[in-house]
Amino acid sequence: MMNGKYLFHVHTYRCHHAEKVPDEAYIKRAVGLGAESIWFSDHAPFPGDPFGNRMAYVQLSEYLYTLNTLKQQYKNQIDVHVGLEIEYIPSFDHDGYYRKLKAIPGLEFLLLGQHMAELRPSPALYTFNMTTEWLNQNEFKVLGLAEIDGIRTGYFDYIAHPDRIFRRCKTWTPEMQSLAEQIVKAAVAMDIPLEQNESSKYQKHHYWPELWKDAENAPKIIHGLDAHAVKELKLIV
Ligand SMILES: [Zn+2]
Ligand SMILES: [Zn+2]
Repeated sequence: MMNGKYLFHVHTYRCHHAEKVPDEAYIKRAVGLGAESIWFSDHAPFPGDPFGNRMAYVQLSEYLYTLNTLKQQYKNQIDVHVGLEIEYIPSFDHDGYYRKLKAIPGLEFLLLGQHMAELRPSPALYTFNMTTEWLNQNEFKVLGLAEIDGIRTGYFDYIAHPDRIFRRCKTWTPEMQSLAEQIVKAAVAMDIPLEQNESSKYQKHHYWPELWKDAENAPKIIHGLDAHAVKELKLIV
């Protein structure tokens, strides 16, 4: 569990939707802010590169090498932690991908960020293949259930923005309440911290205080930035 002045959940240029700066720019800024640690968790690739908005699979070793080199270089100034933000996709679990990631030295943590979900392994069907109309009704349910399945595997060290699954919902319903309770309960049972995501607070319907009301009984909450630019680094704890 992290204490003190930390900067958690930081992306890099490799995901194609973050600022195009070297990784070191984030570390220099973090040192300047007086942070004690910075936690990189760029969007993880999958073998075969079936998904967008993330580094290519061939970049993974370079990402880990570069950040671990910086970790050594800056060890007297700041703790640099190297992880990945990744969805739980059962067919890749079946193929052993998460076990393979967990075994990589220099990859310290996995942050579960369920941005989409697998609906059917073969022929492959994902939430991003569905219509907006379908997603408006069903997205939160399938993302929530995938998140719970992911939590229970034990692969993940932190859960990113658990309330973001409700981004298409307009008002809090008993169905959402029940799902939120199941997520919190699963995280507590596995002793995995839930992330209160700073960037979610600035996007409509991405941050739901109702879930966090329930999470008050959960022992562990971490504060994440979801920084995609150097200027988004700030100490919030
Ligand atoms: Zn991102
Ligand atoms: Zn993120």
